[in-house]
Amino acid sequence: MSGSFELPLREDLVGEVSYGAPQLDVAARLNVNENPFAVPADLARAMGDAVAEVAVTLNRYPDREAVALREALCAYIGAEAHVDVSVDQVWAANGSNEVMHQLFLAFGGPGRLAMTFDPTYSMYPEYARDTFTEYVTYPRTDDFRIDVAEARRVIAERKPSIVILTSPNNPTGTALALTDIAAIAEGARQAGAVVIVDEAYAEFRHEGVASACVLLPDHPNLVVSRTMSKAFALAGARLGYAIAADPAVVAALMVVRLPYHLSAVTQAVASTALAHADVLQAQVSLVRRERDALAEWLEAEGFDVAPSDANFLLFGRFGDRAVVWQGLLDRGVLIRQTGPEGWLRVTVGTPEENGMFRAALQQVMQEVDAGQTRSSSQRGEGR
Ligand SMILES: *Cc1c(COP(=O)(O)O)cnc(C)c1O
Repeated sequence: MSGSFELPLREDLVGEVSYGAPQLDVAARLNVNENPFAVPADLARAMGDAVAEVAVTLNRYPDREAVALREALCAYIGAEAHVDVSVDQVWAANGSNEVMHQLFLAFGGPGRLAMTFDPTYSMYPEYARDTFTEYVTYPRTDDFRIDVAEARRVIAERKPSIVILTSPNNPTGTALALTDIAAIAEGARQAGAVVIVDEAYAEFRHEGVASACVLLPDHPNLVVSRTMSKAFALAGARLGYAIAADPAVVAALMVVRLPYHLSAVTQAVASTALAHADVLQAQVSLVRRERDALAEWLEAEGFDVAPSDANFLLFGRFGDRAVVWQGLLDRGVLIRQTGPEGWLRVTVGTPEENGMFRAALQQVMQEVDAGQTRSSSQRGEGR
């Protein structure tokens, strides 16, 4: 290369780094909330057959509107959340990250505000940045819920165009009460905001906890975002979707999406997985049982554990969480340093992986308690 050239990078992107949860090849990867089970062999074969079938038509662009897939998603939501939705209320894209990015493209923008409640998912500020939307967070309560009266007050005052409620929340696992979501959605409607309920972990919720989908008929500004990355064990396929109370939301997303954004291969794989949703349900049930057992074990070991309706647990509290995180990694167990200072998040894995995590954590805490690490002076507090 000769001559100097300064890239005309957007000023607000200078110094920004890309999303980067470590992808390390260790024995137990419990850091990004994936479903730990491989896709069942029968389902993998059915996906292969479906892909072979579309392969010969790949000279053509895919169905731009992904109608067959959206119909399958309607049927799934009817069965899973017990709500009737029609295809014009459902939208699909490459992961719910793309769905939410599109929602920001349509409902955010310069001079507009997106609001959410911390601690929560780390990607929201990136959608805001990309779309020149102002982004503000207000703190959740000490038990990681949302103070509804306070939320309604700041929504009325700041008049956002987008409010995001994450339930079950990442990284805390907290499911919001339906009455709280409804009250915030009503306040947001009066302020002119759409409310996105990010339900990436919905299928892991406890018995008796309802999906925000049941609120759709009564809240025209509500959009529920979901994904096949977690419960469906399809993080690698990239399929997220949204269910909107108002079909006009879906129409708006069609305006901002890139043409033919969802490949025929993705559509075929996702439709096949939906047709086999029942076999995946068995995995989800096992993960839920493992989660509850792991929460109980952590509590018995003296840790604080945030009640979780997701496939992960936020636990603590550590004087120096980095030491514990590194100690676990040294033993082949990768978890996540995220959430409030002093807490760590572990994804629920297979029973074997969870066993490795328990054994490794006991060893690390013995070291910490014996003062063999830097955090020795602080350990014990709050544990
Ligand atoms: C994992 C996750 C998603 C899903 O992202 P995909 O793009 O569908 O893989 C969305 N929201 C939250 C809060 C998540 O943790």
